[in-house]
Amino acid sequence: MGKIKRIGVLTSGGDAPGMNAAIRGVTRTALYYGMKVTGIRYGYHGMIHNDLVEMKANSVSNILARGGTILKTARSKEFMEAEGRKLAYENLKAAEIDAVVVIGGDGSLTGARVFCDEYYDIPFVGIPGTIDNDIYGTDYTIGYDTALNTVVEAVDKIRDTAGSHNRLFFIEVMGRDAGFIALSSGIACGAEAILIPEVHGQVSNLKEYLQKDFKRNKSSNIVIVAEGNESGGAFAIAESVKDDFTDFDVRVSVLGHIQRGGTPSAHDRVVAGKLGFAAVEALMDDQKSVMVGYHNNEIDQVPFRKVIKLKKKVDPDHLQMVEILSI
Ligand code: ATP
Repeated sequence: MGKIKRIGVLTSGGDAPGMNAAIRGVTRTALYYGMKVTGIRYGYHGMIHNDLVEMKANSVSNILARGGTILKTARSKEFMEAEGRKLAYENLKAAEIDAVVVIGGDGSLTGARVFCDEYYDIPFVGIPGTIDNDIYGTDYTIGYDTALNTVVEAVDKIRDTAGSHNRLFFIEVMGRDAGFIALSSGIACGAEAILIPEVHGQVSNLKEYLQKDFKRNKSSNIVIVAEGNESGGAFAIAESVKDDFTDFDVRVSVLGHIQRGGTPSAHDRVVAGKLGFAAVEALMDDQKSVMVGYHNNEIDQVPFRKVIKLKKKVDPDHLQMVEILSI
């Protein structure tokens, strides 16, 4: 065995279904290779406040089907400060943790990078875990597939009632900065329009665009709105257009936190298990400050530097495709 004797593992930022499969992947791979594993509860908060738990093989039994994260998660303001990170470093040293695997979104990976720039002797490897799928360097983030399926199921149900009552529905989905969930769920559900944070000026075209559908008497119209859309959320947009569609009942549904929960999909579990395994292997190969990602069905290592600096882009051509497919 190499110089790493003990690995710390944590989940940070928003929880995402499949994080448990990643924790399991990290824990069992490290144990298999003769390392010890410490679970750090509540992300960076637990690192600063010494909330540590010894992980055995059975600590991760029967968790694959559970949403959320058994290690809990948090957002830590203290870790944003040098003083907080110093405390975290001292705690890792005292607990004899030689390396850390961080499972979280771009904020969590940014925190890992900042820490590694200050303290060189504890390598960090990241695993992309967020329902938003907005991390550069990986085709999938853990939790995205499950969240997408949850949205699709909900929108299908809303479509049934929308069609029965001639309703125009504005459905708000998660995505403060990224439209991946909105775009893919819109394609999957045949939405008439999709409003995403990455594209500007969409609402001004919306009335004219939807009027076309109304002229040909569609029995329902669904507009998917990513929460970070520039014109506000679904309620604000519905309010601004409702007088133009007096023949239709305009309704709003905000899907909210149901999008984070639930049993992880098979896809999320597979990706999470593979990335958990790969993260430990990366540490054993002396890698540091990298994220393990999933690219064209292969596991890749991407430096934190790139992950943080570069932005994963939605393909705006897909919006035009949605227009065509909903004629
Ligand atoms: P999600 O995509 O689900 O929101 P996330 O990982 O992006 O997840 P954030 O709240 O952005 O969630 O970040 C999680 C934590 O990472 C923060 O609470 C903070 O402790 C740490 N962090 C983020 N940015 C920095 C930074 N610039 N310096 C130090 N720590 C940071």
